[in-house]
Amino acid sequence: MNLLKNNIKSKIKIPYVDLVLQHSFMKKKILQAIEKVIDAGDFVLGKEVKKFEISLAKYCGTKFAIGVNSGTDAMFLVLKAFGIGAQDEVILPSNSFFSTASVIVATGAKPVFADITDDLNIDPKSIKKVITKNTKAIIPVHLTGKPAQMNEILSIEENRNIKVIEDAAQAIGTKYYQKKAGSLADAGCFSFHPLKTLNACGDAGGITTNDEELYVKILQLRNIGLKNRNEVDLWGYNSRLDSMQAAILNIKFDYLEEWIEKRRQNAYYYMKNLNHTLIKVPTEENYERHSFHVFIIQTEKRDELAKYLLDHGIETKIHYPIPIHLQKATSSYGYSKGLLPKTEALSECILTLPIHQDLRKDEVQYIAQIINSFN
Ligand SMILES: *Cc1c(COP(=O)(O)O)cnc(C)c1O
Repeated sequence: MNLLKNNIKSKIKIPYVDLVLQHSFMKKKILQAIEKVIDAGDFVLGKEVKKFEISLAKYCGTKFAIGVNSGTDAMFLVLKAFGIGAQDEVILPSNSFFSTASVIVATGAKPVFADITDDLNIDPKSIKKVITKNTKAIIPVHLTGKPAQMNEILSIEENRNIKVIEDAAQAIGTKYYQKKAGSLADAGCFSFHPLKTLNACGDAGGITTNDEELYVKILQLRNIGLKNRNEVDLWGYNSRLDSMQAAILNIKFDYLEEWIEKRRQNAYYYMKNLNHTLIKVPTEENYERHSFHVFIIQTEKRDELAKYLLDHGIETKIHYPIPIHLQKATSSYGYSKGLLPKTEALSECILTLPIHQDLRKDEVQYIAQIINSFN
C-alpha cells in the first residue's frame, strides 16, 4: 500500500497543491508573528484575533466578522444562533464538502438535498421543489469560488422566514454583482483550513454578517456562552479562533488579492487554451468575480484523463466523487441513486486541475498541453 503510494508520489512533477512552497515565501514573517504573540503572552481572543476580525469584515463589506475554530464550526454556530434544531429542515446542495451537511445533523435538524446546475452550484428550481413548512434555512455553497445564484435563491425565501447562510469556505474574494461572498445573505461562513485560498497553518474559520443580534449571540456561543467573565445567558461551545492562527492570517491577508489574481490568470490560461473537444471548462459571467479556489473541468472520460495526467506527472483531485446524499452516513434519510440526477451525473465527470498561485507559467502551459494531447 505504502509502496504504491510512494510510487505514485515519485511520478508527480506538479502536485495539486504545494504548501511547503507557499510557506517558503513568507516563513520568516510568520515566525516573527508567532514570536510576537508568545512574547506578549496574548494567546486567547487577543489583539491578533480582533485585528483579523476587523480585516475580514472590511474585506467582505459586512458590519461584523467573528473568528472561530473552523469553517465547520462557523456554519454550526450560525445554525445554533438562529435556533435551528430538531424538527427543522435545512436545504443544501449534495455536491459539497461533508461539513455543509454534518453541521445540520449536529444541530438535530434534517439535511434536505437539492440538485445542482452545470455551474456545480445549487439549483434554485430544485430548492423550490424541496421546500416545506419545516424549512428553516438554505445553505448555498459558492463551490469552487463561483457564486451561487443568490438573487434567485433570495427571492424564493422572500416572503418566508427562511434564513440563507452562505457556505463561503471556497469563496473568499468572490464577487456577485459587486458584492463580496459573505455579504450576500444572512451570514457568511469561511474556512481558513490550510487547503483554502486564505489559509492558516492549522484550523481556522470565520463568520461575516450585518445582523447585530446574530453577531452578539455568536460572540457568546463561540466562547462557552459567556456574557462577561462571571455571567452566562446561554450555553455555548469553545470555538475561538486561535491567536497564533489569527496572527498568521493577518500576515497572509496582505497577499490575498495577489493570490486570487494569480489563480484567475491560471484559470484564464486554461479557459483560453484547453481546446479538447471532450472537455468542458468553467465560465465566468460578467456580474461575477470567480475566485477560482479550485478549477474543475468536466469530461465523460474523467478517469482515463486523470490517469493520463498522473502518468505525465500531473496530480488532480475530484471535488467530490461521491455526493453527500449517497454516503453511508446519509442512508437513514432515505436518499437513493436517481433522486438528484444532475449531481450524480456530474460527480462522474468532474476533475480538478492544479490552479494554485505558486504554479509557474510553464507548468500551467505544460498541463494544458498534456490535456490537449489526450485521446
Ligand atoms: C473546507 C470546506 C468546509 C469546512 O471547513 P473546515 O475549516 O475544514 O471546517 C465547509 N464547506 C466547504 C464547501 C469547504 O470547502
